[in-house]
Amino acid sequence: MTRLQDFYGMVDVYRSEYDSSIGSTEATRTSADIEVYEQHHTGAVGPVDLSEAGKRNWILGIEAYHRVTKGWSDIFYNLFVFADGEIWEGRHILRSSQRSLNDAVTVHIPGNNSVTTEAQHQSLLRVARWAASVPEKVRDHQQRPAATACSGVNGRITIERLRNELLMSVVYPGFVVRDGDSGVFVKQVQAVVGVSVDGAFGPLTEAAVKAWQSANGLSADGVVGPTTWAKMFPVPVAAPVSVVVVPAPAPAVTATQLKELESRVAALEARPVLTLARVRAMLRKRLAT
Ligand SMILES: [Zn+2]
Repeated sequence: MTRLQDFYGMVDVYRSEYDSSIGSTEATRTSADIEVYEQHHTGAVGPVDLSEAGKRNWILGIEAYHRVTKGWSDIFYNLFVFADGEIWEGRHILRSSQRSLNDAVTVHIPGNNSVTTEAQHQSLLRVARWAASVPEKVRDHQQRPAATACSGVNGRITIERLRNELLMSVVYPGFVVRDGDSGVFVKQVQAVVGVSVDGAFGPLTEAAVKAWQSANGLSADGVVGPTTWAKMFPVPVAAPVSVVVVPAPAPAVTATQLKELESRVAALEARPVLTLARVRAMLRKRLAT
């Protein structure tokens, strides 16, 4: 199934590569059941060791806690997304998490209220785009009935950013969108090719994509790869910006300054003007004394 292949295309390190004591891999759901991205973090921790051994130990520590201490069948989380952006597989994707979260991919962010790095965020975005059928299906532990403070203050910021990005995103999802797919990006394609926007890529959508491709000079294969995507969602070119220079306003004159100016002018005007007659008169006066 295409959708599942896409999921495995995102995983950097598979469970079988680091854990020989894998929990049950029995399938309890299909990837079509998944429509929620759910994010978690760890309580009180220090810095996370990002070496390969460090990541492995991190996950095995959580596995021991969940399987031994808690008595669960397996690790709660389907995926671990580390600060360097690496995605490690936890519980098998076709096994729903504890508490019958059949519709959710549970994602663990190592750390507690630690700032999510950009590489980490981009990986979270890939997972969210794969898992969430609509932006509102991006959530964390706080939005479940058994709510906790998880995934922290910074986790909340991450959730809001992911939702906004899913709402506005026209960036190629990173995999070919085709028959059998579902999710936000399918809705974006459906809106362009003019079929009902239900988020499920079926025969009607495929036929509409083929027609759209033909009309736009592309080979009509009915799948939306990078070329078709780029034509469907062209990056808008910014209009040239004209610069208008606004002259600085003249400094304002206060009422007090104006009054002072007026009185100075008045004093100047009151000064007697020196004329030849007046100079003679003054000289005569001096000579007389
Ligand atoms: Zn949690």
